[in-house]
Amino acid sequence: MVPPQEAASAAAAAPLPVLPRGGVSARLDISPLLKDPVAFRALIDLLEDHLRASFPHIDFIAGLDSRGFLIGPPLAQRLGIGFVPIRKKGKLPGPTESASYTLEYGKAELEIQSDAVEPGQKVVIVDDLLATGGTMRAACELVKRLKAEILECLVIIELKLLKGVEKLESVPFYSLLQYD
Ligand code: AMP
Repeated sequence: MVPPQEAASAAAAAPLPVLPRGGVSARLDISPLLKDPVAFRALIDLLEDHLRASFPHIDFIAGLDSRGFLIGPPLAQRLGIGFVPIRKKGKLPGPTESASYTLEYGKAELEIQSDAVEPGQKVVIVDDLLATGGTMRAACELVKRLKAEILECLVIIELKLLKGVEKLESVPFYSLLQYD
């Protein structure tokens, strides 16, 4: 796996991404990154540096089911803070809050435990990829419902053509790699 910064240059030169039907494009698959300890450490280094430079205090990293669970916990550990899972419907013991969102072929629901964060706590939401933005928007709705403050939504890869960031409205957003 190439380090993230080299991957960024390669991504800029590559053809436009196409969302695959019922699968994940190899170009959007973070498995090789996870498999390479040097590249994975470099990824967490970059995200840690970004968050430390951007925010003096963060209470929790919230991660989206399921690939946000691969990035969120190591990042939270680096920052010395806790991790909160936002899961697909029916996976968390209650009480929970839930929010539905639209997928390419239907609807789905995300849930957060009702006591996961306190009102006013500062949260960064992480996932591997932003496509249409529907999943991240639903996660924002959940965190807002608990009256926590969303400092930022953070992803490794942003598919800019799909304009998912527009769905996040005024919530700050950061992506490490962008496919135009
Ligand atoms: P969206 O709600 O359209 O922004 O989709 C983003 C969510 O779906 C993230 O949780 C991704 O992990 C996953 N996802 C959607 N499409 C893809 C794709 N083509 N490749 C990888 N992950 C995807």
